[in-house]
Amino acid sequence: MSWLTWLIKPEPLPPANLSEQLKHWSSLLEPSSESPRLDAEILLKHVSGLSDTQLIVFDKEPLEKGIIKRVDDLVAARSHGSPIAYLTGWREFYSLNLKINQHVLIPRPETELLVDTALSLIQSMTSPRILDMGTGSGAIALAIASNAIHAELLATDVNEKALELAAENARLHHIESIKFLNSSWYSGLAEERFDLIVSNPPYIDPEDPHLSQGDVRFEPKQALIAADRGRADIIEITGHATDHLKPGGWIALEHGYDQGEFTRALLKSRGFSGLKTLKDLNRHERVTMGCYPQR
Ligand code: GLN
Repeated sequence: MSWLTWLIKPEPLPPANLSEQLKHWSSLLEPSSESPRLDAEILLKHVSGLSDTQLIVFDKEPLEKGIIKRVDDLVAARSHGSPIAYLTGWREFYSLNLKINQHVLIPRPETELLVDTALSLIQSMTSPRILDMGTGSGAIALAIASNAIHAELLATDVNEKALELAAENARLHHIESIKFLNSSWYSGLAEERFDLIVSNPPYIDPEDPHLSQGDVRFEPKQALIAADRGRADIIEITGHATDHLKPGGWIALEHGYDQGEFTRALLKSRGFSGLKTLKDLNRHERVTMGCYPQR
């Protein structure tokens, strides 16, 4: 740098307009994200409160400095891998906008299959009692409750922080038919029996290489991985399900793409009938259900 540069004050840059800023943020996200433009738009909308339409209408308008700074920070966090849902604190699941934080898994589209399954199983029941174990953000329980006003639910989680969030989501959606209980699987439950047990338990093998890639790196391990090659919690849940189901009641579990056969075999060995595994949109076996027969 020459001595002259020290003397000449640089002209202040004209404030960047919205479209230039978006381009800039997208380019920063390019190396790390599969959807850099979309991510940049979501983060800007989150900070500014602008709608999709406003992003288009105001694209030549300058952005406030404070907004630029906050989006800069979120873009930096995103470029280090932080999931969008943790940065905005929200994720849509089954048409419900849910609060999300780092204590819970980010709800997955494939888990909507478990909700569909639950809703079809309880369709013909008059006032079904449903147990959702390991509820996390409450996504499954809330999606069921908001589509089945005749159902009563109990949602459990071993993590108190997750339960607080799930209860907050219930309040936000004015859902009063779910009770929340701190429990490690069945350990905190009373004698009560249910018409349906649902769960999306941890089922990833602790050695799975995917755990070091993408969003899952930031999610709570406790909610993702299970001992015994990802099978331990499925074994625990299926093992005691008959103590907590009414005769004729059902269980429906989400599991790994390669755990369908294993889950069916477990349920069969416990006397379940009507075993069926459904495939998700990627044609992976994802949800297995079984009925605890009437004696
Ligand atoms: N389906 C999730 C994943 O593959 C795992 C969810 C779970 O362990 N319950 O990332």
